[in-house]
Order: sequence, then structure tokens, then C-alpha cells
Amino acid sequence: MDLHCHSTASDGTRSPAEVATLAAARGLEVLSLTDHDTLAGVAEAKEAAPASLRIVPGVEISTQHNGRGVHLLAWFRDDRADDPGLHRHLAERVDGRRRRFDRITERLAAAGAPIDAQAVLDEADGQSITRAHVARALLRAGHIGAFQEAFDRFIGPGKPAFVPNDPWATADAVRFVAAHGGISSIAHPGIDGITRPEVEELARAGLSGVEAHHPRHVRQTRRRFRKMARELGLLVTGGSDWHGHPTATLLGPTVGDGLPLDVRAPFLAALDA
Ligand code: AMP
Ligand code: MN
Ligand code: MN
Ligand code: MN
Repeated sequence: MDLHCHSTASDGTRSPAEVATLAAARGLEVLSLTDHDTLAGVAEAKEAAPASLRIVPGVEISTQHNGRGVHLLAWFRDDRADDPGLHRHLAERVDGRRRRFDRITERLAAAGAPIDAQAVLDEADGQSITRAHVARALLRAGHIGAFQEAFDRFIGPGKPAFVPNDPWATADAVRFVAAHGGISSIAHPGIDGITRPEVEELARAGLSGVEAHHPRHVRQTRRRFRKMARELGLLVTGGSDWHGHPTATLLGPTVGDGLPLDVRAPFLAALDA
């Protein structure tokens, strides 16, 4: 089971069909495609998936809480994932990302690091544009020598071309997901420094779980969030956060020491409830 990965519907480098085919080849039985602010890749992944692989419609929503970015994973049962209101709202978020990209492009030019915006728009092909697209464009333009440098010098918080996504309070997004019959989990809480009081506050808004298992969480972090989930009556979720190649992580069950078997049944029970 892998509950967090990306495709060309946002900043992944493989198409949704390729991601589904790869996941099946790796022996996965449950995969959620969770592109940034969009469910647009899910249909293609479902079409490509063999009967042995269940595709769970998912999305990684960019939100803000206490002045910083929080990524909220949301999953929907198949019969709830086609809700027009859900898609309309996410389409507005993707439109906002497109406008944000224009502002980032302007700021990069002003900072002496112009990029080929049209090439990015062609690559994204109407899908969700992220800072990962910008980082790849900066690499192609020769302004940086490594992907990570884009965030350290230009587009990370506090840097000259940083532009946040349109505001959406995490608690409101949690309520939005719940109102559409979905379940939600805070993505990579250890990386973003999410505190227990913050998890408790979001749990009161209807948060379903925390992503204890993420490749960038060390064992101690995984343990801490598993314990927090248990004590607060929340689900434990996990995934590879795979973005295709080149990448340090793998699509599939290899998350830290492996996604424990006890994650799967409670997750699917909550999803299908
Ligand atoms: P956005 O949602 O447009 O702000 O872009 C966020 C995406 O950019 C993340 O999902 C990652 O794929 C990538 N990203 C953000 N920060 C970093 C970072 N410090 N290092 C590498 N990739 C990053
Ligand atoms: Mn990403
Ligand atoms: Mn994320
Ligand atoms: Mn992600």
C-alpha cells in the first residue's frame, strides 16, 4: 500500500498510467495518486491499473496554518470522488497556481534568473503547476546547479521569488474534505514541524489521521506520530511521496522500514465507511 505519490497531473515526472503500471509491477495492492490540488490524474491511473491494484482517489491540498504551509492529504471513496463541487473547488486552486506561477516568473526575472515560462506551461499542459516545475526550469536555464538550490536561493520561503499559494486555512480544508465524505491526514508532519496542539486542534475540525510514515521521517519521528495518533484516536497513514525520477525514494511499500501492516485495514475501513 502506498497512499501518497505524484504524477504529471502535478509535479511528478511519470504519467498517471505509468505510475499505476509501476505500482502494480512492484506488487502493490492499494495505491493513491495524490497530486497537488487536483484529482485530474485519477481516472487515467484507474484505467491503467490491473484488477490486482486498487486506486484510491486522492489529493494533496496546499493549506496554511499558523503562518506556514501545511500539506493536507485527502482521500475519497470512488463514488464520492466525482462530486462536481469538489472538482470545481480544486479547479479554482489549480487556476490560482497558474496565476502564482506568473508572479514567480516575474520575480525570477527581476532577481536576474529568467525562465522559459512557455516551456513550463507546455510541460504542465493545463495541469497543476508547482514550484518543482519552476525548479526544473531554473535548472534547464542554468541558473542553478542542483534542484534543491532553487528553493535555497530563489523560491523557498523568505527568498526573492517566493510566492505562497492562495490562502486556505488547514482547518477549513479539513472541514471541506469531511463535508465531501473524504478522509484527511497531515502530510509529512515531521518535516513541517507540526506540533501536538496543532494536531489536536485540527482533529477537532475533523482531521482523520497523520502521515507518520514518510521517507523523510526518521524512526523516532515515525514513532512519535504513531503514538500521537493512537492517543488522539486518529489514523496512521503513510506513503512514498514519489515524484518519479530522478528521486531518492521509491514508489511502493519501501517507506522507512516499510509501511506496517496495521496501517492498511483501519485506513480502508475509514475510507469505505
Ligand atoms: P508548491 O506546492 O507549488 O509550493 O510546490 C511544492 C513542491 O515543491 C513540493 O511538493 C516538492 O515537490 C517541491 N519542494 C518544495 N520544497 C522543496 C525543497 N525544499 N526541496 C525540494 N523540493 C521541494
Ligand atoms: Mn511535489
Ligand atoms: Mn507535500
Ligand atoms: Mn507529496
